[in-house]
Amino acid sequence: MRVVAHCPKCDAGLPVSAAEAPESIKCGRCGHVLSLAFTESLRRDAKVDNCPVCGGADFYIRKDFDPKVGLTVVIVGALISAVFYWYGEDLVAYSILAAAALIDLIVYGRLGDVTVCYRCHSEFRGKYERTATYFDLHTADVLEQEYERKIGRR
Ligand SMILES: [Zn+2]
Ligand SMILES: [Zn+2]
Repeated sequence: MRVVAHCPKCDAGLPVSAAEAPESIKCGRCGHVLSLAFTESLRRDAKVDNCPVCGGADFYIRKDFDPKVGLTVVIVGALISAVFYWYGEDLVAYSILAAAALIDLIVYGRLGDVTVCYRCHSEFRGKYERTATYFDLHTADVLEQEYERKIGRR
């Protein structure tokens, strides 16, 4: 399992391998040392039970989507289609546009889910069993405030 921990001081994303389970990592941006507590399930990539950064047990799932990839497909499709349009091949031009939109949908549908910690926003990627539910705004509000008080942001 690959984990991206977020530095409580400066929010930098810090990649960690759960299999190696380091006891702490140092933030590359601000030098803050983060102590980590990996559970056995995290180490074995079985499931996300407790967050190694904040110890919380509340997570949500979201699509692991990189908007840049989707946008590139659409832009490239539009450019190719413009060339055909220029040569009067309207039908071909529209087909290419439609194909680009379709590829975009397929790419989006095939993306894996990533589990995110409600409190500290650590991200967990791996083959583990997905047990978390989708994002809930109310839960996020309550838990984020609790965490930010704990790390002294409020
Ligand atoms: Zn930092
Ligand atoms: Zn956390």
